[in-house]
Amino acid sequence: PPTIGVLAVQGDVREHVSALRAVGANPRPVRRAAELDGLDGIVLPGGESTTISKLLDVFELDAPLRAALAQGLPAYGSCAGMIMLASKILDTRPDARHLDAIDITVRRNAFGRQTDSFETDLQFAGITDAPGAPPVRGVFIRAPWVEEVGAGVTILATVPPGAARDPAADGRIVAVAQGAVVATSFHPEVTGDLRVHQYFVDRVRQ
Ligand code: GLN
Repeated sequence: PPTIGVLAVQGDVREHVSALRAVGANPRPVRRAAELDGLDGIVLPGGESTTISKLLDVFELDAPLRAALAQGLPAYGSCAGMIMLASKILDTRPDARHLDAIDITVRRNAFGRQTDSFETDLQFAGITDAPGAPPVRGVFIRAPWVEEVGAGVTILATVPPGAARDPAADGRIVAVAQGAVVATSFHPEVTGDLRVHQYFVDRVRQ
């Protein structure tokens, strides 16, 4: 089975480890640069992106992780993990860094305050296409949205009209892929629906 790292400096690491194990991957928490060796892919969990950014420096992971991603290590980022993988972040701290692994502009905390967190059913290209396939439940916790995508990026899911409190959220991009890099604004690891993790592990296997 593919060995998939889970960046374990902050955030909901355990949930991703369980989901990866459940889809038949071999998950490995990553806290040190040496633990990046031999990975087939890596998951960047949700949490707090400015904190994760600082901790990447503290754990001396920033440069080696950046290098591994630049060499094509497949990656999946959820929420703060999406922010970390992006090529441009709006509304972040000036000293927060990001890893430039997917050509997207992400707006941090785009849906509003913590109390504007919400859940909704999503159509997800490549997962819910078959007739009768159940939607993917999107859990958005102080989530980002994708404001712009580069030419090589595929849009996988958008916010259905009326799902969030702010009508400006309607139609916003919340799941994307570019090559073997996948990112979602929401948290599939907390729903028990394993299809997004399966989707990522399938891409790693290809
Ligand atoms: N608001 C967080 C950030 O900016 C992301 C929240 C999450 O990962 N659930 O990093």
